[in-house]
Amino acid sequence: MSVHHAPEPTSTEQAQVVTYEVRGAVAVVTLNRPEYTNAQNSQMTYALDAAFVRAVDDDDVKVIVLAGNGRHFCGGHDIGTPGRDIDRSFERQAVIHWDHVDKQGVDSRFARESEVYLGMCRRWREIPKPMIAMVQGACIAGGLMLAWSCDFIIASDDAFFSDPVVRMGIPGVEYFAHPFVMNPRAAKEFLYTGGRFDAVRARELGMVNHVVPRADLERAVFDMADRIAEMPRLGLALTKKAVNQAEDLQGLRAGMDSVFGLHHAAHAHNAEVGKDSLAGLDARSMARSNKKADGDV
Ligand code: ZN
Repeated sequence: MSVHHAPEPTSTEQAQVVTYEVRGAVAVVTLNRPEYTNAQNSQMTYALDAAFVRAVDDDDVKVIVLAGNGRHFCGGHDIGTPGRDIDRSFERQAVIHWDHVDKQGVDSRFARESEVYLGMCRRWREIPKPMIAMVQGACIAGGLMLAWSCDFIIASDDAFFSDPVVRMGIPGVEYFAHPFVMNPRAAKEFLYTGGRFDAVRARELGMVNHVVPRADLERAVFDMADRIAEMPRLGLALTKKAVNQAEDLQGLRAGMDSVFGLHHAAHAHNAEVGKDSLAGLDARSMARSNKKADGDV
């Protein structure tokens, strides 16, 4: 299989947090902050968006694989690394909302999360090429949004999934696909406990398509990607749209819109009665609480 690297991204920063390569007919977009479990800051979000645009515009690319470098796929949104950048402006390509910087309260928070969380993930779900998430290790909260935006997930046997944001008083991450990627009762358990669902449980619930040993993960993903790449490009694009439209008719899109309002009611409540919109929890205190909760499960 020939490996060639696509042209350099527009900034060296993007090269650091997301890498891009093309292997045959498959573009591989890789989260690359392994020292912080690939925590997603805005720099990474915009770098991801740029990488996906490249993959869409390259006629030789038939399938996109989203991967995470290191032990974990993605530990979630960046709520505490030195690279956290929620107060920074980025050149917005999607123009889903006005810039959140220099705004206050809901005016800022709603703008930012409309753009970088809900809006971006929806755009990525609608990318007209098949996307496979290759998940190992942790896939937590914001990490779920990235994996769920893809058409399906192939996971290694060490992968696990959780959305512990109810601990912050928030009803799930911004891209509220929970009752669609698994059944509603499982979604409630997933959210109420904040505990881990391992790869096998996630497969039983329909969230994950295949579970393979860690050592076989990359091979399994590329075997599947190569099989899909045999199909005609337009056929794949229309098929993806067909299934997505059916999901939207079942209520996915409208449900997400309504839950985004609840999500922001929770952020606003936290900010109104406490010291910040995350109920005072940061990466360290969340990790501590999650560990305790997982011990109880
Ligand atoms: Zn939020």
